[in-house]
Amino acid sequence: MNRDISTKLFKQAEQILPGGVNSPVRSFKDIGETPIFIEKADGAEFIDADGNNFIDFCLSWGVHILGHNHPSIIEAVKKALDKGISYGTCCENEAKLADLVCSCYPSMDKIRFVNSGTEATMSAIRLARGYTKRDIIIKFDGCYHGHSDSLLVSAGSGVTQINEASSEGVPYDIIKNTISIPFNDIEMVKEVFANNKDKIAAVILEPIPANMGVIIPKDGYLESLREITQQEGSLLIFDEVISGFRVAPGGAQKLYNIQPDLTCLGKIIGGGFPVGAFGGKAEIMNLLAPNGPVYQAGTLSGNPIAMAAGLAAISTLIKPETQQLIQENSNHFIKQLTENLPAETTLNHIGPMFTIFFSKQQPQCFEDVKKCDFERFREFYKYMLESGVYLSPSQYEANFISAVHDEDVVGGVIEWMKGFK
Ligand code: PLP
Repeated sequence: MNRDISTKLFKQAEQILPGGVNSPVRSFKDIGETPIFIEKADGAEFIDADGNNFIDFCLSWGVHILGHNHPSIIEAVKKALDKGISYGTCCENEAKLADLVCSCYPSMDKIRFVNSGTEATMSAIRLARGYTKRDIIIKFDGCYHGHSDSLLVSAGSGVTQINEASSEGVPYDIIKNTISIPFNDIEMVKEVFANNKDKIAAVILEPIPANMGVIIPKDGYLESLREITQQEGSLLIFDEVISGFRVAPGGAQKLYNIQPDLTCLGKIIGGGFPVGAFGGKAEIMNLLAPNGPVYQAGTLSGNPIAMAAGLAAISTLIKPETQQLIQENSNHFIKQLTENLPAETTLNHIGPMFTIFFSKQQPQCFEDVKKCDFERFREFYKYMLESGVYLSPSQYEANFISAVHDEDVVGGVIEWMKGFK
């Protein structure tokens, strides 16, 4: 496969963009290659600058659950553009999209739109602290909640150990109130609560982690988190930026029948435009400015183009026929994948998302994922890329199946995969 033009474009980009990119994973650093540059995307596929075709399982990091360029989104955006790009004041679609989203999430009476998942989690934490009047938050190693300072924390070597910032530039004073512990270990959660009586504002997690690859919560784990947080007067925040509207229209909370206090959403709800959101019970949400003392704002929040795109995306997605398509496509592809996995790998999957781990054991937490054979993953990744299959370019990421990844589209993928030795 000739990728000369992409390579040239990347070299040019490196001159002016740090690392040649505007978000680090795009750089293919984990793969040891230079990234491909996309010329055009449609449905389940895209074409790169050299004219190569790829079947896309990254889908803009999980945004395009309907496939690229879904006609309903394109039409809605074109119509919205005719009416202006951004007003900086109110438009009807904000409340319409809010209604639609909240109707799928009984845990949310009210919602606020922001511009990214990062903003959603950052603001949800501020709100949780404002509501509980406590400072400490618990997060889990390997769960990613965007790049705000207080969430860029990696674990120390035990609950009593001091956590460390996972990025330079984050002062200890900011992360000293964040405790990061292993996912799927409920005893650890109990220990942290016992050691920090009446100090924990919230527990934030991806209920189905997807940022260390897809990890399945152990039976009863999410239920226990709900029970403990309730007993301790702390809020439970589900970051459903990835799982929301994906594993079910009502997200992981619907799948596991658990009502968190706050929910964060992103990706799918913007139909491909920069949108995030957080919501919960009115009693908590009413603390937000201008009603209450917790400040949060945004010049482009709820902007008309993003709201129109989100409305079109969600309205289409929650139709029974779309849900059926996604389910059929997922079932078919996951079955094929399971039967033809490369040697010494494990598949973690739920609904339309999956990760092939280069590990014989099924990873259940970040420490497990770190033990994968990364060299083998790299070889596999390059092999699949050469075959025209674009997977998320890291062992720590999830891959996604859309409403248009049907049997015809994915048929060849399994055949190519079988050739990997
Ligand atoms: N939360 C989760 C679970 C995510 O996967 C991401 C991004 O991938 C974020 C938050 C941050 O979202 P954004 O990149 O839109 O800031």
